[in-house]
Amino acid sequence: MVKYLYRCRDIGYDCSFEFEAAEKKDLMPRIRIHTRYAHQVFEMNDDMIRKIEAAIKEIKE
Ligand SMILES: [Zn+2]
Repeated sequence: MVKYLYRCRDIGYDCSFEFEAAEKKDLMPRIRIHTRYAHQVFEMNDDMIRKIEAAIKEIKE
């Protein structure tokens, strides 16, 4: 089994938000909602999306 883990602090926020999912594509919508409400990022630019994608870790169980 593989799962994907995103931690907000991995892209530089002082924030304890973590989210994991079985599929990578399920992460981004949650991350978008979180960064909007928690960090007032209303439009993610390509740089930020790249940063987030690079921060997502693949974990094998
Ligand atoms: Zn956060």
